Amino acid sequence: MRNRYCKEFGFNSTGIKARLELLGLSETDLELCDTLHKQVIIPNIDKIIDTFYAYMLSQPDMLLYLDSQKLIDRLKETQTRYLLSLGKHFNTADYFEKRLRVGLAHANVRIPPYLYICAYHNLRQLICALFPESINKNVELQQKLYFFVNKITALDMSLAIETYHHSQVNKLKNSLETLKQEEDHLRHLAETDLLTGLPNHAHVVAMLEGSVLNAQRDKEPLCVMMADIDFFKKVNDTHGHLTGDGVLREVANRLRMAVRDLDIVGRYGGEEFLVIFTDTGIEKAYEVAERIRKRIADSPINLQENTINITISLGLCSLHDDDDDINSVIERADQAMYLAKNGGRNCSKVCIQDAARR
Ligand code: GH3
Ligand code: MG
Ligand code: MG
Repeated sequence: MRNRYCKEFGFNSTGIKARLELLGLSETDLELCDTLHKQVIIPNIDKIIDTFYAYMLSQPDMLLYLDSQKLIDRLKETQTRYLLSLGKHFNTADYFEKRLRVGLAHANVRIPPYLYICAYHNLRQLICALFPESINKNVELQQKLYFFVNKITALDMSLAIETYHHSQVNKLKNSLETLKQEEDHLRHLAETDLLTGLPNHAHVVAMLEGSVLNAQRDKEPLCVMMADIDFFKKVNDTHGHLTGDGVLREVANRLRMAVRDLDIVGRYGGEEFLVIFTDTGIEKAYEVAERIRKRIADSPINLQENTINITISLGLCSLHDDDDDINSVIERADQAMYLAKNGGRNCSKVCIQDAARR
């Protein structure tokens, strides 16, 4: 895209005008630019480049970046082109675009702005030291030209540094984004049970803690259900562990599909699932539990050649008072689940405390 960076950095005609005004560059400087080229730069181009590179190569800081003859030769060519265009048509978008790209080139090869500024200070002095006698004896012209060299190099630096920093900020933003994505991915892995895709034990317990606190704060009802597959060991023993895994996945799906989005289903242990019914009283939770239980008991699970009939035992309890915490709630749900096991399995039971209140 033509002049893409001018567009990105707001250098339309108003932006260009504002930057030139900031540096005191005006139309009259275009004539000075012409004089500078005809009388100073063109006649001395090789000398400027050679002296400039002799200085650069004598600086340990610069040598870190100028580490091969091939690179030095290439940079000398670029620098020659740069000098021969220094200040020419400085009031155009094309000029601004080329100078904005310099900062991106520096960012790509990681040349820090302090080196660029120091080097350009040297270059500026070199150019001014080469003013011919014809200029030096005209003090007014000499001063104007001196100021012009300062202003035009300052313009070039201001543009290059702007894009350099922009590029650095973009790199940091991208790194942050990548880190954030990696963090999200790692968090997901740490919180998810790989077999069923449900929240794992630690995560569902942490979510229960949050739900209990919210319900206590908002004085809303909350119910917890422990679901345990009946005689699951027999499924493994009869059909193998892979089929057992398939059954666990299917039960997890069915549980997930049977509850509302704001309810939470997690894998509590091997073939045990914890369900948190948000803003739900025990009567309603029992109704949902029975619906889930019947759906699982009535629809066999088809896994490749196997059709597997399973049932589940469900234990329910509600959150009682402010003294209740996740441990007491899990304990009561567990107790109720064992009531269901002892009551013949394939049934739903509420804990003794809730049963007494009904
Ligand atoms: P009950 O009705 O009393 O709950 O009997 P059960 O057989 O379901 O209970 P038990 O605790 O005796 O056995 C649970 C089985 O669940 C044993 C264990 O190998 C199996 N299990 C636990 N996690 C997994 C798993 O990730 N995959 C498979 N395939 N089996 C698992
Ligand atoms: Mg169990
Ligand atoms: Mg079991």
